[in-house]
Amino acid sequence: MSETALHDLLLSGSFRVGRTLVTHLSDGVVVEPRANWFHGVDPACWMPVVGAGSPDTPFPVTFGGFLVQTPDTTTMFDCGIGPLARSMFPGIREGGNLLHRLEEAGVAPGEVDRVVISHLHLDHCGHLLKPDGSLTFESAEVWLHHREAEYWRSAAAAGNIEPARIRRYLDALQSAGVLRTYADEFELSPGVRLIPSPGHTPGHTAMLLSSAGAHAMLLGDIVHHTAHFTHPRWLQSYDVEPESSFATRLELFDRAARLGAVVTAVHMPILTLGTVTTTGSGGHVYHPAPPHRPVGQP
Ligand SMILES: [Zn+2]
Repeated sequence: MSETALHDLLLSGSFRVGRTLVTHLSDGVVVEPRANWFHGVDPACWMPVVGAGSPDTPFPVTFGGFLVQTPDTTTMFDCGIGPLARSMFPGIREGGNLLHRLEEAGVAPGEVDRVVISHLHLDHCGHLLKPDGSLTFESAEVWLHHREAEYWRSAAAAGNIEPARIRRYLDALQSAGVLRTYADEFELSPGVRLIPSPGHTPGHTAMLLSSAGAHAMLLGDIVHHTAHFTHPRWLQSYDVEPESSFATRLELFDRAARLGAVVTAVHMPILTLGTVTTTGSGGHVYHPAPPHRPVGQP
């Protein structure tokens, strides 16, 4: 991949959902093999679908989050790796720079009302705390599914990624009084819904945005590649509850198809937008949207 092509993937890109502006903010891009996105699948099956010449073909992997601006609220959905970006991924480009991308979008961290975390892997919640342990988004509530907080505090998380560090994050949020949890799908504010979507982790959350008859679904780590829409059994190696991941995918893909929602996910290249339709046999087809030009502030 040329430097120019890589640079185009790095920074940010926006799209509108009715009166809501959504901006995918990068916290860095890694280019590396990702056979673990197709865990246990014969490479002869997935390679031709994703255009890979070998199981070691590198993929661009974006880290970061989405800035969601409705006329009344400013929300982050996930917030990247944070200060640990360069130590976790030594080859990362623009690693740890999500707050610069936020500033370029015209938003200061103190202006963010809520941060919704899809799940507590470090690459999704890292910017919640500054290196000194204080809150980055000092005015924001931090929303999680209650099972997510419980899972990371339990012995079941022992084999997952840095549970002790995640517990320190939870402790800091709790003692600052900003941690909020929810159980059933609900509307956090008009047009911003949180949807329990277990599988990748037990308390994973997706976000559904609706405005003026338009819809978009931010899928967290339910999908990592657009091939997952048509091959929902191709799961990621980190999934804690693989059967739930599969069920969650079918449920949300069906819902996105019914709504005509735009779908995207945080690890996809910026800006990856598409829609989903169902097939007669219960499968799904992904339709890439035409490239969106970046748009300005409302
Ligand atoms: Zn992730």
